[in-house]
Amino acid sequence: MSDDPVYTPAQERVIATIGKDPAPHGAPLPSDLADELKADLETALVPFHDVLPDGKSYENRFFISKQALTDVHSCEAYFVDGRGDFEWNLANSRGTIVHKAIEVSIHTRGTINPTDLVEESISRLANDANKSIADFLVTLDEFSRAELVGDCSSLLTRFLEGFPGIKKQWYPQVESALTVNLAKGRVRVSGKVDLALGRPPDKVIIDLKTGSVFGAHRDDLRLYALLDLLSIGQSPRKVASFYIDSAEIHPEDITEGTLRSAAKRLESGLVRAIELKLHKATAERRPGSNCRWCVHLDSCEAGQAYMTQREEDEGW
Ligand code: SF4
Repeated sequence: MSDDPVYTPAQERVIATIGKDPAPHGAPLPSDLADELKADLETALVPFHDVLPDGKSYENRFFISKQALTDVHSCEAYFVDGRGDFEWNLANSRGTIVHKAIEVSIHTRGTINPTDLVEESISRLANDANKSIADFLVTLDEFSRAELVGDCSSLLTRFLEGFPGIKKQWYPQVESALTVNLAKGRVRVSGKVDLALGRPPDKVIIDLKTGSVFGAHRDDLRLYALLDLLSIGQSPRKVASFYIDSAEIHPEDITEGTLRSAAKRLESGLVRAIELKLHKATAERRPGSNCRWCVHLDSCEAGQAYMTQREEDEGW
């Protein structure tokens, strides 16, 4: 009897979509692309050196994440202060726990059932004083904890059914940080990759998603590809969003064009973010999906009109 793994059709689809390409096609990237794109970003930041923090310590930097970059390109008022203070809850903690469980599953010998993996992940995160989620997890009552374990176990099971078992030979990286420092350390662009497989130049970066398909998901992945190029000098071969609920994978080949467009988006977003936060420029309001969570919604006419229209479109 063969020891080869038996894959579900969904798992076979993932392998066919992002697996190693024996005959890579597409033009190779110019060898000086990383230097060129980084130089353009540096040039765009020169006018702001005087207002930026001096970058002499970790805290003394202007930080921008993939989420902040998406926000500044959608609604500027939401980017400035519309998000409110972040608080952990049952819904937003699921991703962190399931990612941890996936990480543990790659490095454990033998088979552990999803509920045990989730229990172990919750215990580890709850005991990690460096993680802000710890305070939330240790205060959960028994009922809420059981609910969280149930939700995360279902999600993890779904992931394991749709995504092929990850082998150590694929050089998996889970929740790995990507960072680029600019303007002599005054600016830090950072992201955290859910899953990366393979070694450069065959690397594939994958974001694991629990909801619907959004255009911003593709922008996030292009940003990761750009950060990889700017930091290690080599971009991934491909990026992909894997939607756990539907077991669908949406890939994109990384080309010179995608990297140039990601660099332009980063540059314009970064400049605008600095103008808004440090120059106190007037923030433009652009209604969209963020209105649902925005602390300004009650007093924002544009947001209210958008939500009313949305309810009419989605209602009975
Ligand atoms: S309610 Fe909508 S349009 Fe108004 S500030 Fe918030 S996100 Fe922007």
